[in-house]
Amino acid sequence: MEDCIFCQMIAGEMDSEIVYEDEEVIAFKDIEPQAPVHFLIIPKKHIPTLLDLQEGDKELVGHIYQVAAQLAQQEGIAEDGFRIVSNCKEAGGQTVYHIHYHLLGGRNLQWPPG
Ligand code: AMP
Ligand code: ZN
Repeated sequence: MEDCIFCQMIAGEMDSEIVYEDEEVIAFKDIEPQAPVHFLIIPKKHIPTLLDLQEGDKELVGHIYQVAAQLAQQEGIAEDGFRIVSNCKEAGGQTVYHIHYHLLGGRNLQWPPG
């Protein structure tokens, strides 16, 4: 997907602060952090929205959650707690159409979100 900024990031064509990478996923620092810890965990496979997930993506989504939990441990936010968010389409606040999971922590997060 040439016009997808996250695909460009995966291809190494865009600057990013990668904090984790394996065959299936990468995680990097959000460019506009909303909390002391704000990472984005994304699949390397281009999937535009959560609505485009297929039966065969079940393990991938589970893996993303495992990576998020591992990063939370590493960043020292696991004990206090953290949030994983995935926005879907316009009303959900999605701005990049390559699915991503926000890992947010390091402060007390409010509920409900805006
Ligand atoms: P969303 O609004 O849920 O689609 O999340 C997209 C996120 O991507 C936002 O939090 C942006 O700050 C972040 N973002 C956009 N461009 C970049 C970039 N080049 N590097 C890191 N994060 C980015
Ligand atoms: Zn993409």
